[in-house]
Amino acid sequence: MFASLNQKKRNIMTKITVAKGDGIGPEIMDATLEIILAAGAKIEIEEIQVGEKVYLAGNTAGIAPEAWDIIRRNKIFLKAPITTPQGGGYKSLNVTTRKFLGLYSNVRPCMSLHPFIKTKHPTMDIVIIRENEEDLYAGIEHQQTDEVVQCLKLISRPGCEKIVRYAFEYAKQQNRKKVTCFTKDNIMKQTDGLFHQVFDEIAKEYPEIENEHWIIDIGAAKMADTPEAFDVIVMPNLYGDVLSDVAAQITGSVGLAGSANIGEECSMFEAIHGSAPRRAGQNLANPSGLLQGAVMMLNHIGQTDVAEKVQNAWLKTLEEGTHTYDIFKEGTSKQKVGTKEFAKAVIANLGKKPTILKAVSFANSKSLNLPKYKRKAAAKKELVGVDVFVHWAGSDSNELAAKIKAIEKNNIKLSMITNRGIKVWPDGFKETFCTDHWRCRFKPTDGAEINKSHIIDLLKSALDQNIDAIKTENLYAFDGKAAFSLGQGQ
Ligand code: NAD
Repeated sequence: MFASLNQKKRNIMTKITVAKGDGIGPEIMDATLEIILAAGAKIEIEEIQVGEKVYLAGNTAGIAPEAWDIIRRNKIFLKAPITTPQGGGYKSLNVTTRKFLGLYSNVRPCMSLHPFIKTKHPTMDIVIIRENEEDLYAGIEHQQTDEVVQCLKLISRPGCEKIVRYAFEYAKQQNRKKVTCFTKDNIMKQTDGLFHQVFDEIAKEYPEIENEHWIIDIGAAKMADTPEAFDVIVMPNLYGDVLSDVAAQITGSVGLAGSANIGEECSMFEAIHGSAPRRAGQNLANPSGLLQGAVMMLNHIGQTDVAEKVQNAWLKTLEEGTHTYDIFKEGTSKQKVGTKEFAKAVIANLGKKPTILKAVSFANSKSLNLPKYKRKAAAKKELVGVDVFVHWAGSDSNELAAKIKAIEKNNIKLSMITNRGIKVWPDGFKETFCTDHWRCRFKPTDGAEINKSHIIDLLKSALDQNIDAIKTENLYAFDGKAAFSLGQGQ
């Protein structure tokens, strides 16, 4: 009988992977677990080692293969911050985890807790939804010439569809009124252009939710100045990385924010701050950021009642003025406490609600169930030209054009040369600064066609003429529409 009771108990438990991390990690994780267990979280904990010790033991990923097995089996991962050792060669565990596990959506609620946490934006309540897998974070970088290095920005339709749909579904579930998209598609018409286009397509499916798009620079300025004008903001990876920290900071403290990294199978929950090594081992750190991550985890695993209880007790504790050193302010705060005492104060408040701050209700905050991405029918793809990139240390673009024209073949002619994107031939400006990295665009003329053998002929010809061709990019039209950028000034 006892065996079957134990079995029943195990069945209602959700097994989660926990990594206590480095620096202040173990202290804030202990405090967080103590609070959520006291609130009745039905979780079974399986602990793994990640971070500094693992890195320094020679594992450049900061995580052992056995730990991956545990994370993948349990699917839910609560992670304290880790220290990435100084010096080259160590891979960011966060980036690797997000990408290996397909954690495409990074969700960061940033809400002011005025008047208890000092902020210039007392009514701010925004959620940043950041694409988490692609963009410049593909980490594909190359040095191509003495003077030029490149990083490939990859944006995919599935990546855009998944994150934009997540943002709208999140807004719908959380009864939020507006989703804003930030991109820089006035400059990056293909990559950010696709993100914006997908945003417009998906927004149409949610007529009840207001939608808008801002160019990132002015959007970011507006967000830093008037965050009350925004609700949910969705954006590509790099912008989201930067702006989610800005948003958290202007609520009054980055130390109070948590984040969820959601995938189709697995999810990871964490604080947004680092391991604060100087504060480690002194019972000083604020566990609130990780606790916020844990609250999102409890919602995700369907324990919304426990999440709600923890969140309201936490708000009550802040409201009472029981504050760790990082948020302690003479006048507003009543009592400066350490990590353990803060956890005890939250536990003592379980079951209570804040009276000045708004109490939360998480009845509708379960994990979102999004449809799987469906690949669209392939478009008609037509090769219409090629960009040959050349390493050349000269400075006169007319001289380079004369050299490059000598490799023309099969009626495929040089149509333009750019340097760092700006057209320098024909009709360049002598004032334009040029590096040793030149893009030579070839296109067929006089009704001629271009195929891949023609590109090989061009490259062979370049080799014969001692021209250092460093890479090519094929120019395509999809369904008759040119799908590449023009030269700036073209
Ligand atoms: P940090 O976030 O650790 O610290 C920034 C400042 O905030 C420090 O003054 C610190 O004392 C304070 N602080 C941060 N969290 C606090 C808390 N919970 N309570 C009280 N004060 C807190 O950033 P850093 O100093 O740039 O980085 C330290 C280490 O953390 C680095 O090794 C970095 O690689 C790592 N890091 C890890 C993560 C992660 O694992 N998710 C994220 C960021 C940084």
